[in-house]
Amino acid sequence: MPLSIAFDNSYSRLPNRFYERVRPEVAPSPGLLVLNTTLAADLGLDAEALASPDGVAALAGSEIPAGADPIALAYAGHQFGHFVPALGDGRAILLGEIVAPDGRRLDLQLKGSGRTAFSRRGDGKAAVGPVLREYLISEAMAAFGIPTTRSLAAVATGETVLRERPLPGAVLTRVASSHIRVGTFQYFAHRSDEDGVRRLADYAIDRLYPDIAGADAPYAMLYERVVQRQARLIALWLSVGFIHGVMNTDNMAISGETIDYGPCAFMDAYDPGMVLSSIDRQGRYAYGRQPQIAQWNLARLGECLLPLLSDDRDKAVQLVVDRLSGFASQFETAYFGQFLEKLGIAEERPGDRDLVTGLFSIMQMGRADFTLTFRRLADLVDPKADTEAFLSLFGGNAGVEPWLKLWRERLATGNRSPREIAAAMRAINPAIIPRNHQVEKALDAIIEGSDGAAYIRLLQAVTRPFEDRPEDADLAQPPRLEERVAATFCGT
Ligand code: AMP
Ligand code: MG
Repeated sequence: MPLSIAFDNSYSRLPNRFYERVRPEVAPSPGLLVLNTTLAADLGLDAEALASPDGVAALAGSEIPAGADPIALAYAGHQFGHFVPALGDGRAILLGEIVAPDGRRLDLQLKGSGRTAFSRRGDGKAAVGPVLREYLISEAMAAFGIPTTRSLAAVATGETVLRERPLPGAVLTRVASSHIRVGTFQYFAHRSDEDGVRRLADYAIDRLYPDIAGADAPYAMLYERVVQRQARLIALWLSVGFIHGVMNTDNMAISGETIDYGPCAFMDAYDPGMVLSSIDRQGRYAYGRQPQIAQWNLARLGECLLPLLSDDRDKAVQLVVDRLSGFASQFETAYFGQFLEKLGIAEERPGDRDLVTGLFSIMQMGRADFTLTFRRLADLVDPKADTEAFLSLFGGNAGVEPWLKLWRERLATGNRSPREIAAAMRAINPAIIPRNHQVEKALDAIIEGSDGAAYIRLLQAVTRPFEDRPEDADLAQPPRLEERVAATFCGT
């Protein structure tokens, strides 16, 4: 069935220095691995056509659908604190933009379809493991209700890519409300290309924050909005135990969506210092450092915008500092709001935050499983419920019972019934997350044994994360000692 996509490409109407036109490479023998039919329908795309040989060829980059205008975007970025003036899409190609039936304009991007002008020493390809990992984790994040890029499809290319060892190649089709990054602004600012920064800011406002287009100080408002969205995003990450792993400025989207899933992971036992990425040797991007790092990245964005904010440099700096100093309180409001809801508290009262921090300290001491702690609390709202299963998560820590008593007393003072509270808690605390050991096991089965059953099962489970399904009970469990994964690899 012929594939027809109504592209409307606004980014490629920007000046040439924003991107390089490029042709994806032809994949020798494309085969569909996963197709997101629900997302396809939301985008107004025909899933059957996407799954047809023509559709799969397009998803592999072998055939360019009519109306596509493939480009690789230019951007710079701070990688682990070090500035790199030219990064860009080295293994990603923006096919084009579509306008979904609900009016949203979205990028369709192929990741892993070959070299571009920005590839440097890389091959522009992606191995099947990282592709399927991004697909799974981004779709789990979407199911949690966390802003994220989405995954429309993963196809095998039939080619072998060389990493530490030869691996099967694949291409991910990523959907995003735009791929503008903090690093995109840095690219132009570093070149003292003020016109480029201004055009990019205007484009970002038009596309992502159209309501501020006519405002008196649109660039200050753009900055404020990005700060707000990032504050909320990081709070949401922390609320599910998510560790991005590579929060470089080129991996932070202006839209406020989670982007560029590499060696990311969810923690099992609660530990704010947790680092899983094998490339993060200093722990720069540890779980608990993510708010600080987001603020650091946003400061870099602020620097890029200075010339747009005021002709008076001091005034411009003050504007950035003011907006940026709002980050901490916006983050804390979102963070405690989220964790209080996880504890069944819809409206905050003085002293409530101590319940959250008190729980964290006993979780840390007892190395309690993050996800199960919150999920099981919903069973204990009823004061007569048995606490044994919950206590067992903490390895016999003595502080748990006094904390439970305080928490139950607090819940009893609200005006919702225990049943209502428990239902609200089960709607915000996932039962199933993509646990590292399960992700690795499922990917191994594909890479080593060409068996995709475990992956599909895991994908189906993590995209319905708030249900307790007895048949998926094993996927809800933390790893046994011998199953623990100590590090995650990005495998680029
Ligand atoms: P990431 O790890 O996705 O944040 O990528 C960092 C930079 O390295 C970006 O500029 C990528 O385009 C580039 N890159 C990563 N992997 C490859 C690859 N296999 N080939 C070419 N460029 C790559
Ligand atoms: Mg990146």
